[in-house]
Amino acid sequence: MVRENEIRPSEVAVSPPPATDAGLVFIGRISTPWTSRLMTPRQGRADGPVCRIEIFEPWVEALDGVEEFERLEVLYWLHQSRRDLVKQSPANDGAARGTFALRSPVRPNPIGTSIVTLVGVEGSTLLVRGMDCLDGTPLIDLKPDRTLFTPIAPPQPGDFETG
Ligand code: SAM
Repeated sequence: MVRENEIRPSEVAVSPPPATDAGLVFIGRISTPWTSRLMTPRQGRADGPVCRIEIFEPWVEALDGVEEFERLEVLYWLHQSRRDLVKQSPANDGAARGTFALRSPVRPNPIGTSIVTLVGVEGSTLLVRGMDCLDGTPLIDLKPDRTLFTPIAPPQPGDFETG
């Protein structure tokens, strides 16, 4: 069950250290149809609505070549999340699990990730399907989907030993 910021009976909150946000720079903004967490999908879908990822200056030049990739990984800051729960009850059924065993938006550093399909590029804006965040969510990073790459292993000890 999706929530706003309420804490549920089986959940455990802690007093976190003051948030410093590690000096992140928000590089853009994601526009989606969703203005309420209660209506936002739990995970993006390949057949979801087309959403817009606007890149801010001076980062627009970093989009060079991005159109070559059919899928991208998007990292974003779930800016409306509470950040203090160590045990959570996503179904609000009395059972709680550790935050690091969940993909809940409620985390000490509320980073969300989605694999999206690139539908088009309009100047400094990407059109994508597969998002699951609120309208106006800050963008942290964009990368080609890692599964589009073939790993090249560096030389390992023993690779060149002869029998
Ligand atoms: N796909 C990402 C992941 O796995 O890291 C996020 C998954 S999280 C379960 C998605 C949920 O986060 C949405 O259903 C919504 O309730 C909540 N959410 C979306 N955007 C948010 C934002 N900007 N701030 C806080 N919560 C947000």
